[in-house]
Amino acid sequence: MPASQKIQVSIERSSWIRKMFEEGAKRKAKYGAENVFDFSLGNPNLEPPPKFNQVLKELAADSAPGQHAYMPNAGFVETRQAVADYLNKFNRPEFSADEIVMTVGAGGALNVVLKTVLNPGEEVIIPKPYFVEYNFYLDNHQGIPKLVPTRPDFSLDCDAVGEAITEKTRAVLIDSPNNPTGNVYKEEELKELAGVLSHYSEKFGQPIYLISDEPYRKIVYDGATVPSIFDTYNESFVVTSFSKDLSLPGERIGYAAAHPDISDKGMILAGMVLCNRILGYVNAPALMQRAIPFLLEESVDMSVYQRRRDMLCEGLASFGYDFVKPRGAFYLFPRTPVEDDVAFVAALQDENILTVPGSGFGGPGHFRIAYCVSDKVIERAMPGFERVIKKY
Ligand code: PLP
Repeated sequence: MPASQKIQVSIERSSWIRKMFEEGAKRKAKYGAENVFDFSLGNPNLEPPPKFNQVLKELAADSAPGQHAYMPNAGFVETRQAVADYLNKFNRPEFSADEIVMTVGAGGALNVVLKTVLNPGEEVIIPKPYFVEYNFYLDNHQGIPKLVPTRPDFSLDCDAVGEAITEKTRAVLIDSPNNPTGNVYKEEELKELAGVLSHYSEKFGQPIYLISDEPYRKIVYDGATVPSIFDTYNESFVVTSFSKDLSLPGERIGYAAAHPDISDKGMILAGMVLCNRILGYVNAPALMQRAIPFLLEESVDMSVYQRRRDMLCEGLASFGYDFVKPRGAFYLFPRTPVEDDVAFVAALQDENILTVPGSGFGGPGHFRIAYCVSDKVIERAMPGFERVIKKY
């Protein structure tokens, strides 16, 4: 029985990462894994902080009954309260456990929020380049992505957002620190965006939500901070996870937080809880929820990612690559010296360097390097990066 036509199309649309994965596997088999420099995936290569294992051991030794049972779909109240207390340290609005829903990663959180707010055929504005899984998540809930440009330094173009808004616009989805650019939106940009959204929410008589996808919030460099959208806009949600800052992507743990003053709050929160259940997640993994209260202040050593960013940026700049230096996350998004980013990525592949064409992120003429790899991979890939740009 073939897959549905829609899924067949989706498989084709998601083919970039698949192609890179297949190419990588082939090359690793042929040349040996140590001779293939795989910068294609955002899979953190740092181990979780030591406290994670310690907490897991303590939790495993606790044999109190009922710890593996079903729970409220929003998650354990103690975990949600711990997250709210944590958010209250750096946000002005006061959170309670009610506004937090524990989720199956940031991906789960996005699906919960999108399903809660979207009517079929409504539009979600996304600044590009962007994390392409958003297309699939929107499609899950019959939402339509509406892509808008950012400025050359990848900062928000709020005029472009304003021009894209129609009465069908239900939300704007941003991601900061950004995948694939590493950009961090500044407070002035978020304030300007909030102004645009307030204006059109009033004009059309219903809120246009701001959804901020923040799994890289703690991964910032040179003292950069990520301003809170909660301080600037009431009709907002943050979706996030511990996949990147605690290196736990396989454990599937994250949360969605709704602004404490969001309109129709009771209905929104009830919707989020229901959606967590009926999307089939039911609730976020219990063991991870029990661990999270002990880990909210923890993170992997960000100085390691900063060192890798610097190694890569210094090396590539000296060879003549052109890019905006990332202020967060672990991605670099250089311009390709030719228009055809697919051809450039293929040339890198011939050097056993695996990256992803910018076209795959709505950013043609660029390519993405995920530098969540060892220092050695970066060092050993450098001569190949140099040879390829010299050819152009
Ligand atoms: N959002 C962005 C911008 C991401 O880069 C990722 C993963 O790479 C996700 C969401 C999904 O994260 P999670 O593993 O928490 O579902």
